[in-house]
Amino acid sequence: MSTAAAKCSLCKHRVAFFQRSYSGEKLCKQCFSESIENKVRATITRYKMLNYNDTIAIAVSGGKDSISLLHVLASMERKFPRASLFAVTVDEGIKGYRDEALGIVVKTCKDLDIKNHVVSFKSLYGFTLDELVWRMQDRKVALTPCAFCGVLRRKALNAGALAVGANKIATAHTLDDEVQTSLLNIFHGDVARLASEKPVTDLVHPLLVQKVKPFCEIPEKESALYAYIKGLDFQSTPCPYASEAMRNDIRVLLNQIEERHAGTKFTVFRSIEKLRPALIKIAEKGDFNECTQCGAPSVGDLCMACQLINQIR
Ligand code: SF4
Ligand SMILES: [Zn+2]
Ligand SMILES: [Zn+2]
Repeated sequence: MSTAAAKCSLCKHRVAFFQRSYSGEKLCKQCFSESIENKVRATITRYKMLNYNDTIAIAVSGGKDSISLLHVLASMERKFPRASLFAVTVDEGIKGYRDEALGIVVKTCKDLDIKNHVVSFKSLYGFTLDELVWRMQDRKVALTPCAFCGVLRRKALNAGALAVGANKIATAHTLDDEVQTSLLNIFHGDVARLASEKPVTDLVHPLLVQKVKPFCEIPEKESALYAYIKGLDFQSTPCPYASEAMRNDIRVLLNQIEERHAGTKFTVFRSIEKLRPALIKIAEKGDFNECTQCGAPSVGDLCMACQLINQIR
């Protein structure tokens, strides 16, 4: 990664500190940061993710990727005064973990002059994740905390975005997240999700805020490097419940392949993007009703979140 005293391929005069193995570029810190911001801008334009007058809820957990995204979008927003940015943070209620992240998010938002809205599991569902996990174990519910939490987090984030009047949710999913998710969906045989989990989600219901992923072409390693170079404060301790065993296997496998064949993650990402129109045609689509319990948009009588909560009540 480090290069003795090689010059930056872009500015040609500062010393390079990082080499992009998939492009061969050697970059100084300043050109690297600018290249990330330019790449994000190009992704937003390519996928028509944002409009000049959008109200954008940025999903900010306090980790390196979401804090980097917050900084990149905040710097872009200054050129688009009619756009509004909010940070929306989901507080799952994980003692000793989420509390630290919330502190980092509050301070970052204050520094950037961005309003922060917190939506908690406790207020939305009546339980913290700690309480839910305890009940899951007590009732022998055969689901991992992540499977449970993932569904509840999605609904909470949407609720937070609606509360601030957002018409877009920007999440910090990186290239690595996107490729891992696509392979996970293939391994699970979930063609509907493979078709629908894309850089810009479809507008399927007025109460489901459209999601965009401006970091979908940024490798996770580079998102971390951006946070490091900019001196950003972020939470680095992992969630104590993190348990996505298959995703971890896929992550390790992809990193090994990428190490030997640079650019593989981009190739997988682009292949899925090319296949998407055909996938959408064969994926089964359900019509949306209202969840009979909470009123949220739902394909069945009960939304996924209510189905899960009912299991542990
Ligand atoms: S790692 Fe799993 S349990 Fe922890 S916040 Fe993420 S989805 Fe929830
Ligand atoms: Zn340079
Ligand atoms: Zn419901």
